[in-house]
Amino acid sequence: MEYLTPNFTKDMLKDYTVLVPNMCPIQFRLIKAALESEGYHRVELLGSGSSEVTQQGLKYVHNDTCYPALIVIGQFLEALNSGKYDLDHTALIISQSGGGCRASNYIKLLRKALVRSGYGNIPVASANANGLEPGSMMPMTKKLAMKLLAAVEYGDLIMALRNETHAYAVDPEDAERMTEKWITTVDRWIREDRHYLIPSFSKHFRQICADFADIALDRVPKVKVGVVGEIYVKFSPTGNNHLVDFLESQDCEVCLPGLMGYIEYCCANWAMDTEFYGISPKMGRYAAAALKVLNSIGIQMSKALKEYGFYAPGSFYDLMTKPEGILSLGAKMGEGWLLTAEMVELIENGYVNIVCAQPFGCLPNHIAGKGVVNRIRQRYPEANITPVDYDPSATRVNQENRIKLMLAVARENLEKEGESV
Ligand code: SF4
Repeated sequence: MEYLTPNFTKDMLKDYTVLVPNMCPIQFRLIKAALESEGYHRVELLGSGSSEVTQQGLKYVHNDTCYPALIVIGQFLEALNSGKYDLDHTALIISQSGGGCRASNYIKLLRKALVRSGYGNIPVASANANGLEPGSMMPMTKKLAMKLLAAVEYGDLIMALRNETHAYAVDPEDAERMTEKWITTVDRWIREDRHYLIPSFSKHFRQICADFADIALDRVPKVKVGVVGEIYVKFSPTGNNHLVDFLESQDCEVCLPGLMGYIEYCCANWAMDTEFYGISPKMGRYAAAALKVLNSIGIQMSKALKEYGFYAPGSFYDLMTKPEGILSLGAKMGEGWLLTAEMVELIENGYVNIVCAQPFGCLPNHIAGKGVVNRIRQRYPEANITPVDYDPSATRVNQENRIKLMLAVARENLEKEGESV
């Protein structure tokens, strides 16, 4: 049975508040700026992780469903119940990955939850690049698409610089202040139509790196931890119980590969689908061309990071070779081969300790994450990987204790390395 809610239409842009679950705290603040500067009246990011969110999620979403669906639907319902919004002028935006996974169908679960909880009048817009939900797509223009690209690229860079400098800064507050300075600056650029086009990225990547490089650092040897996993629980502090904060409280350097990697992964998969599944060759050519452009931006970002002494990941095409001999590029449900590729790249670059964040109900990422750990360890005996499950009943204490066991091994290894130098 299909549950229907009103379509989101262009004329709603001018006076509707749209609610968006906040997956990546830095990138989504810039996405908000992009939307509000291109006709969206008001965008509210939802980041609540209260017990009410879980309760609402569990009440209206089947408890076998993926944990990210449960959280974001719970957040929407908590916000609608809060009395803070004019319910005649409020709409919701939810993403659809367009892949074979349930992330393409969260929108159906959301509409069902809205109808059942008495909010059947709330329009839902879909953020997708596959032409799904043609009557209720999030309104998009070329200029908005360019600004969203800028938001993710600059956001990824600021996140990477923040995480690395925070670990070694003589005063970690300097890293937080610099991060806030650059989020505010890029937010202003986007709202004022400045520096959001691709040709201006390189210069401004270097400007941001140069500013972070001015922070006084003390690069003492530290446990380096990479974080990979299902996209929502990897990035969202609500989804992963503030994993980055916890790792930093344990005196670790945290490396979180950027959000753009997932977008590049989707482009690569669309291009491959043409070859393997007969999807329109035109679509495949567009996807391959988009990937080429995104990869060249990634290379510019890496050059800037390297020039100023920060960790710089390799190109996306290089990343695509990493799962070879471990997992096929045909494994593309959920985060699929990207998850394996990111683990291998992190290990090869010294981030041998890895937390693989996996939501309850997520079979594909258990296969591409937990399922490949032994194979990766055979190839890289130094790898110290801990898959951690996130679900409504898992306690933070249990998750953190599991990670502490991994960190105990990591510290021992670090000491041994120090002795052998
Ligand atoms: S990747 Fe996992 S959590 Fe995400 S929709 Fe697919 S099964 Fe659910």
